[in-house]
Amino acid sequence: MDVAVIGTGYVGLVSGTCIADMGHNVTCVDNNKDKIGMLKQGEMPIYERGLKEIVETNVEGGRLYFTTDIKKAVQEAKVIFIAVGTPPDEDGSADLQFVLAVAEEIGKYLNGYKVVVDKSTVPIGTADKVKNTIQGKLDERSVNYQFDVTSNPEFLREGMAIQDFLKPDRIIIGSDSEKAKDIMRELYRSFTLQQDRVMFMDIRSAEMTKYAANSILATKISFMNEIAQLCEKVDADVEDVRVGIGSDTRIGYKFLYPGVGYGGSCFPKDVKALIRIANENKTSSKILQAVEDVNNKQKEILVDKVTEHFGDDLTGKIFAIWGLSFKPMTDDMREAPSKIIINQLIDKGARIQAFDPQAMKEARRIFGDKKNIIYTSDQYSAINNADALLLVTEWHQFRNPDFDRIKKLLKQKIIFDGRNQYKPDKTIENGFTYYCIGR
Ligand code: NAD
Repeated sequence: MDVAVIGTGYVGLVSGTCIADMGHNVTCVDNNKDKIGMLKQGEMPIYERGLKEIVETNVEGGRLYFTTDIKKAVQEAKVIFIAVGTPPDEDGSADLQFVLAVAEEIGKYLNGYKVVVDKSTVPIGTADKVKNTIQGKLDERSVNYQFDVTSNPEFLREGMAIQDFLKPDRIIIGSDSEKAKDIMRELYRSFTLQQDRVMFMDIRSAEMTKYAANSILATKISFMNEIAQLCEKVDADVEDVRVGIGSDTRIGYKFLYPGVGYGGSCFPKDVKALIRIANENKTSSKILQAVEDVNNKQKEILVDKVTEHFGDDLTGKIFAIWGLSFKPMTDDMREAPSKIIINQLIDKGARIQAFDPQAMKEARRIFGDKKNIIYTSDQYSAINNADALLLVTEWHQFRNPDFDRIKKLLKQKIIFDGRNQYKPDKTIENGFTYYCIGR
């Protein structure tokens, strides 16, 4: 099947590549010429394990193309995915300008029946807006082509994106057209051969499913962070509590890890957008609001611990930061807690020595020529002469470090573990002053 994916970001690139890997012909479109240029050279604009290899295989196989030419891509495709960003607007609602701009372009070039698929995370009712925008352009052109708009929200996790897309837990398709459903079933057939995991529903329910899924995961994280804060007050160990409650199959272990708050391009913006949707519909968003408030506070928790130890004036202090991406296995720093932690420490007079296995380039881009931050070539150089180590992102390589080496390199033997990666007793026995979350 001929497929166009418009927006070659995290979701567009992974989706397009995996669909091509199943034998379909996919054209990935982006209006960012540099990105398309990189992809044509075989360079990946994002870090995702395994992506480069699978892109290469499919480009070589003649099934995957990259272009800025949206007209050709739209006209040749049977299915057109919209996979552009939906960042939060100032009021927290999802900004639909990119989605609707793509809808206009589709309307400008439509030349026959197509299925237009909203893959971006969009507020309930967006499919209608996409439909009206396309129809508006067709009316302007005085042509009458049939098309269907469906919702197919994406659930991949950064860091596991290829695996998640190729072997999804479920494929949600919101559609009111039997013809579109048949085409989508056929497109995804080979992804669910073992067991049919395509779920059809109405468009609005599909749009809502995505927001509800991200919001419940964010809720689990904020819940655990609140429990962690309480554990500190009542002298309980949140790690024991986590295992204790996770063993209940009704609860499960996933997303119960306390830490420095959730970040990334999805949870923060999707919780905000759902709050906004609730407000617009004059219904309660108390739980979602609490989830967001707890998370905002949690992003400051490590700095609170630092100032508790060192005082509010950190002039002359040097802090080593391990981990900059919002989670391991990605170079994505959108809404990363590390940004808040670093900015707050620098505002208080500190200097930062930072290391991340993949996000150094992104960090340099974000912090620009900000003073008082240097990037080191490896994790141990970051510690050299620092007053404390702050573990912010739990990359595997930080899990079992050489503590003797850390001791020798640190000026003061202090660790602030924002991800509960180390054993408190052992770390303290080892001669460190050790701060963690909820223990
Ligand atoms: P992204 O910012 O990485 O990529 C968006 C891409 O769209 C960019 O490359 C941009 O240049 C391109 N673009 C914007 N306007 C365009 C236009 N008019 N024509 C062509 N290209 C255009 O975003 P993302 O992380 O891939 O997210 C895309 C959507 O998927 C969002 O709604 C997001 O919430 C959702 N989503 C993201 C993830 C994730 O883990 N990143 C997971 C599930 C769902």
